Amino acid sequence: MKYPDERSKAFAGIFLLLLSAIAAGICGCGPKSGKPGAGGIAISFDDHFIKEWYELRPLFQKYNAKVTFFITCPDSLNAEEVAMLKELEKEGHEIGFHGTVHAKSTELMAAGGPKGYIESEIEPGLRYMNAAGFQPTSYAHPGGNHNDRVDSVLLAKGFTILRDVAISRRKYNGFQFYAWPPRWMNTIFYPFEAEQKVDALIIDMDEVAEEEITEAIQKAKETGTALMVFGHEPLYGAPQNGEYGFNVSFLAVTLREAQKQGLRFYTMSELPKIR
Ligand SMILES: [Zn+2]
Repeated sequence: MKYPDERSKAFAGIFLLLLSAIAAGICGCGPKSGKPGAGGIAISFDDHFIKEWYELRPLFQKYNAKVTFFITCPDSLNAEEVAMLKELEKEGHEIGFHGTVHAKSTELMAAGGPKGYIESEIEPGLRYMNAAGFQPTSYAHPGGNHNDRVDSVLLAKGFTILRDVAISRRKYNGFQFYAWPPRWMNTIFYPFEAEQKVDALIIDMDEVAEEEITEAIQKAKETGTALMVFGHEPLYGAPQNGEYGFNVSFLAVTLREAQKQGLRFYTMSELPKIR
């Protein structure tokens, strides 16, 4: 069937916009509370770019930044990867977990129930990580896919914080339907009320402009909340051959602004502990 005419497309766009606005938790009100003086930023990275992340150490050191690495672990970690992760952990960064097979958790749950989900997505990778000496307490949902059933299994397994995905720009069929300023996205600001289910703003593929992240950092500072952002592969130029990641120069701006505004750097598992 041919694509619907322009008018239907526009209606579809408006509908998507409304749905997405609801999904993004955007409203006219400010963040729930925040904690005076606790304003900060929690940066995380997903998947398995261990060597590439390790190479960011000088940048982290320059700004005294602590971050969280969510590892997807389809196989045992090799000795070199373990050594790099250990070094990162020693320097104050957190090693979290991001699934074994990186599948849609709601589908694994629907097909195999909690047992099937745990045995395919959670336990094998966690065993590799435990064997290597890591005890992750934070979890990032692969593909941002989850539901309450999945969350309750993960919390029962002992994870103390579960991270989902928030998106600032929404494209549909090549058109950009909206670009919410991140400072309006209340769910990406952690209010320090011991929340265990959180959203982080994706910074890959120029999703967020430098002035937008600067404004969001200011908001975290003013409201005593922690801005949560995340990305995948560090890139030093335009993405090549299907690369998917964030620009390292953008990360540098984010770190520099956070330091300039006096924000604290939090790892993900630290957030629910701060009251
Ligand atoms: Zn992932």
